[in-house]
Amino acid sequence: MDPNAYRPQVIIRHCDAYDVERIREIVREGLETLDLRPQGRTLVKPNLVCAGPKFEHAHTRPEFTEGVVLALQDRDDGQVTEMAVGERCGITIPTRMTFAQSGHDDVVKRLGVKKYYFEEEPQVEIPLSHPGRLRNYLFTPEPVAKADFFVNCPKFKAHPWTTVTFGNKAYIGLQDDRHRLIDHDAKLNEKIADLQYILQPKFLAIDAITAGEGRMLTPIPRDLNLIIMGNNQCAFDAVCCAVIGVDPYDVDHIRMAHERGFGPLVLKEIEVSGDVTLEDARARSTGFDVGLIRVEKYFEGTNISAYAGPPPASEGHDYCWGGCPGAMEEAIEILRKVDERADEGMPRLHIVFGNYDGPIDFRGEENERVVFIGDCAEWQGQLGDQTVAVENLYRDRSTLDPYTVEPQEMMDKVLKVKKAKREHKNLPYLRLTGCPVSVSEQLMALVDLGGFKSPMNDWPSIKAYFTWKSAIAMKRLVGHRYQVLGEAERGDAKPEGMLPQTTPAE
Ligand code: SF4
Repeated sequence: MDPNAYRPQVIIRHCDAYDVERIREIVREGLETLDLRPQGRTLVKPNLVCAGPKFEHAHTRPEFTEGVVLALQDRDDGQVTEMAVGERCGITIPTRMTFAQSGHDDVVKRLGVKKYYFEEEPQVEIPLSHPGRLRNYLFTPEPVAKADFFVNCPKFKAHPWTTVTFGNKAYIGLQDDRHRLIDHDAKLNEKIADLQYILQPKFLAIDAITAGEGRMLTPIPRDLNLIIMGNNQCAFDAVCCAVIGVDPYDVDHIRMAHERGFGPLVLKEIEVSGDVTLEDARARSTGFDVGLIRVEKYFEGTNISAYAGPPPASEGHDYCWGGCPGAMEEAIEILRKVDERADEGMPRLHIVFGNYDGPIDFRGEENERVVFIGDCAEWQGQLGDQTVAVENLYRDRSTLDPYTVEPQEMMDKVLKVKKAKREHKNLPYLRLTGCPVSVSEQLMALVDLGGFKSPMNDWPSIKAYFTWKSAIAMKRLVGHRYQVLGEAERGDAKPEGMLPQTTPAE
């Protein structure tokens, strides 16, 4: 797809209800305006990062996905060979659980389309050769690599690490955990920009009927009553940014995708149409909170004090926006959702990230602990009557290879947190290793230290985990391999002919 060969268009439409038929009509009109018809292997990707009653605003609503698939079927003139919905959800949860909890299982069943839980598919190799890449290859699920007509359906949300979750950012769901966590650190924006080389959407439609502010897993709902559609991911993200008053050049992963030729960010190069003007859309979004906040500030006024030093110099940033600090913010938000005592019941905790060389206000109160989080955590000093030296265990990213990286599954993480707690049993501090230490590990540590009920020990989670493992075991019996080495077969959604676009910011 060459973004210079056509004029990128974005359509902003009013929609004030999760009414499948209304969404279908709006999206069908959008496809008509953009002169698009699905063809070949058509893959629709909603954002299902997590779901369930406590996380109802975190994901693309099933009515939205259903309306989009029906509109695509309306526009199919016989060229579609497969219509599918696929995703890899977040925080180590099996995707089959978020499909069920969000209502997407019912949608695919009702419509008779295929579903892909991406982590249960073979992971295939995509070579990279562009300047500035983090790696020479990455892995993605086979149905993604083979897609001909890719439809990206994100949820309109803020993101505490990357400012926003629109089209480009939603690509993190194109990788299973094992590969997703590589470079999910201070280089997260670079990683997202690299993922753009896997494929490009022919069509985007974002669920901005009820948007999410401030956070990504537990966002605060904000009714914008909008569906925004487009035919170019950068142009689409630029307009979504404009809606909430964010300069897309300030969102690193969007700026990088633009600089690599994936599309324009300057509004005069984008045709914006629809029954809602950009000005009206902006008025609906006044004061939209993106939630980009450093961890020290985030925990002010709580029983947790946070201290963040810089990650290693080789990371090239003075704060690890894509790694451990943001994961801790999401972990406490989940805990607050599942246990209302999360704040007042939390013992006095100090959490330390990066190379921190300042004081820690440790008073030796009952259950008070210092938690050093991440391989790059480093500190020396006195905690009560103990002299403590926490060493930097960070390994350069070049030591991690997508070919050989080991999985970090839920049970591994549970055992890892329990082991860390055991090893530090009589010490005033705890060390959690990893780069990054994931949201789920940090959540388990908080649960353990505060004596809270674990949200991961419920029956649906356990059942989904074992069903997932059984499904994989069955597939292995018939020759399924988790990872397939060598350049993957690609569909028509493979990006081609990208040209650098260097239009400066307005
Ligand atoms: S250990 Fe955590 S804070 Fe340090 S570089 Fe890795 S992800 Fe960032």
